[in-house]
Amino acid sequence: MRISKLFGKTQREVPAEADTVSHQLLLRTGMISQVAAGVYSYLPLAWRVLRKIENIIRDEMDKAGGQELSMPVLQPLELWQETGRDLAFGKGLFVLSDRRDRKLALGPTHEEVITQLVSYNVQSYRDLPLLLYQIQTKFRDEPRPRGGLIRVREFTMKDLYSFDADEAGLNQSYDKMLQAYRNVYARCGLPTLLVEADSGAIGGKDSHEYMVIAESGEDEIIYCSKCQYAANVDKAQSIKSKLESGEPLPLEEVATPGAASIEEVARFLKVPQSHTLKAVFYIADGKLIFVVIRGDIEVNEVKLKNVLNCFELRLATETEIMDAGIIAGAASPIGISGIKVVADDSITSGANFIAGANKPETHLRNVNHPRDFSVDVVADIAKARAGDGCPKCDGKLLSTHGIEVGHVFKLGTFLSEKLDALFIGAKGESRPIVMGCYGIGLGRLLAAAVEQNHDDKGITWPLPIAPYHIYLCPLYREDSKVSEVAEGLYGELEAEGLEVLFDDRQESPGVKFNDADLLGIPIRVTVSPRTLETNSVEIKRRSEKETQLVPLEGIAARLKELIRD
Ligand SMILES: [Zn+2]
Repeated sequence: MRISKLFGKTQREVPAEADTVSHQLLLRTGMISQVAAGVYSYLPLAWRVLRKIENIIRDEMDKAGGQELSMPVLQPLELWQETGRDLAFGKGLFVLSDRRDRKLALGPTHEEVITQLVSYNVQSYRDLPLLLYQIQTKFRDEPRPRGGLIRVREFTMKDLYSFDADEAGLNQSYDKMLQAYRNVYARCGLPTLLVEADSGAIGGKDSHEYMVIAESGEDEIIYCSKCQYAANVDKAQSIKSKLESGEPLPLEEVATPGAASIEEVARFLKVPQSHTLKAVFYIADGKLIFVVIRGDIEVNEVKLKNVLNCFELRLATETEIMDAGIIAGAASPIGISGIKVVADDSITSGANFIAGANKPETHLRNVNHPRDFSVDVVADIAKARAGDGCPKCDGKLLSTHGIEVGHVFKLGTFLSEKLDALFIGAKGESRPIVMGCYGIGLGRLLAAAVEQNHDDKGITWPLPIAPYHIYLCPLYREDSKVSEVAEGLYGELEAEGLEVLFDDRQESPGVKFNDADLLGIPIRVTVSPRTLETNSVEIKRRSEKETQLVPLEGIAARLKELIRD
């Protein structure tokens, strides 16, 4: 490809709207262009990378026994209503009406469609197992699109679905996919970490994510310093520090003028925050929920949502709290009625806590559960954090950030039961098919690859997904010999099947080298009057500082070797 003809221009300035390194670099290299919030065009260089990623994924899915098919983006909303997942996805689901006022959804994922399809085609256990996949466009109405290709509303995804006769079969399919995913990331030059995850709106029991560790990642990962335990903070468990229990003392009212937050109250009464009880209010599917948790611990909203089994969860507003007769800043679980109370299990150790008195600027000392108040549910709804104990060993937990580049789920049978995807077992009995699903977002994988592979000059593409392998860079083209040799070399390398980006512009060496570094093509081949003095070209790898002179004769074979290494 001649750069003079390439669609998409590099730019020197860092675009103001870009909040992550990959977003900045993908805009500066002219690879993507925004159409709307979370909606992007891929220009030719990005499209080449995406197709390479796609081919790697397809190859690994096929090797694992997957069969590729294609399902429609347009899906009848009734199908989603049958499984109830229209509510689980909520506003994330793009819904539209056709000319007959029939409601359709733009597929955010394809479990419904494929389960129905499989129910038409599978009769007996002999038809199982099945691994079916597609690489196709998905739509999710994200509340906060961000980070360029990291969180978008329209994206290409590889979604594979496994169908097995029993749990053991599902476990085998799951392990096969974990291996296939590892292969995909290794080939794309991405070191990843497998972490336990929450299954969210997709549903099911076990779920894992592959994470690329990155400062800009929006997911927090909790992991153990000593064992293999790693989990998304949404899912992470931890051993909470236990408080010493003591003799329950009598309740005592205490004035706390000007102290409302846990921090202020603890400071005012000179007690550690862990000796206070915090009240947090949520609205779950329209209903007010009173959450009680130890003062030094934060609520994990995903865990709370799972405990409440609700579709929508948000913090209550001050007005909603006041309307329920609760005094904000001094809210108390004592004497509360008509509101569901959910407590974190952290309140079950220790004694004589400070809690609100439900009177302005007043708190209570020596509050003890269950002596002074009762709750509807006690569960682990705490956010694990660095410094907590590991749930699997005696190590300490640490925290980092990552970009999720793959998510796999053991779905079980809840979808096949709802959609009548049954099969006849070996003994003639009818059973629901056991399902799993496995997704990789291609654009996000591309962005994560840039987050992992860049320096202060630009992108450093891993060779297997680089848009081109060779940056052919003639300097001082007005020297007719340089021009002639470069043109000849370009033709020769192309004929040999090498992927060459030919910088045929009349630009200074500085501009050309800067663009070569910014675009991150793995091997730069420079032709200049100086190299031609010895009938050579200069070869430089993007990832290294050193250059070497290599004779023109046999150059195609030498470059092929470099690409194979
Ligand atoms: Zn551990």
